[in-house]
Amino acid sequence: MPFQPNNKIIIITAPSGAGKTSITRFLLREFPQLSFSVSAATRSARTNEKNGVDYYFLSTDDFTRKIQHNEFVEWEMVYEGKYYGTLRSELERIWNNHQVPVLDIDVKGAIHVQQQYPDTTLSIFVEPPSVEELKRRLSSRGTETEESLQARVNKASYEISFKHHFRKIILNDQLDKACRAAKEAVQEFLKAEGIRHKA
Ligand code: 5GP
Repeated sequence: MPFQPNNKIIIITAPSGAGKTSITRFLLREFPQLSFSVSAATRSARTNEKNGVDYYFLSTDDFTRKIQHNEFVEWEMVYEGKYYGTLRSELERIWNNHQVPVLDIDVKGAIHVQQQYPDTTLSIFVEPPSVEELKRRLSSRGTETEESLQARVNKASYEISFKHHFRKIILNDQLDKACRAAKEAVQEFLKAEGIRHKA
């Protein structure tokens, strides 16, 4: 399906552990017209994660084949050897359903999507209160090894330096306050014809 000018996209981006998944879930509960964009990924599924719900879990060969066939809107090697990407077919599936996809993706991927669809994308950067707090949140989640925790923390500092590329920056020092700010931004975006660019 060719891209339609009214096919909107919402991106929630942030360093890992900044709270973007909680804000994404909140928005999906608040707005029935939003639909989670399921990414493709080559990492293995965590306990409780389901194929086709949390991610389309692919082998590296399958992922590479899809890159060659130009099936991704964007893809990144988010962590060493692990690919993540947004499939065109996933956005089209959601648009065909007359809904707005919500992408929970990393900073580089978010910049790429925004560059491709500048007039119809609302990008929200969720800023953690500090790198120390981020480290604490990631440790308490208990899904990381010491090595992968350090990789995520290093990447976070780098990603925060890109925050001004996004249309909306929301500080997540209190989750309910951050959710309210995100809700307002989405409400306004859903009502608008498109993005009004800064002069
Ligand atoms: P996790 O392994 O914790 O599920 O996700 C790791 C990171 O990959 C998160 O920052 C997440 O937002 C990001 N991510 C998930 N899907 C995509 C995607 O399709 N593209 C990009 N660029 N990043 C993604």
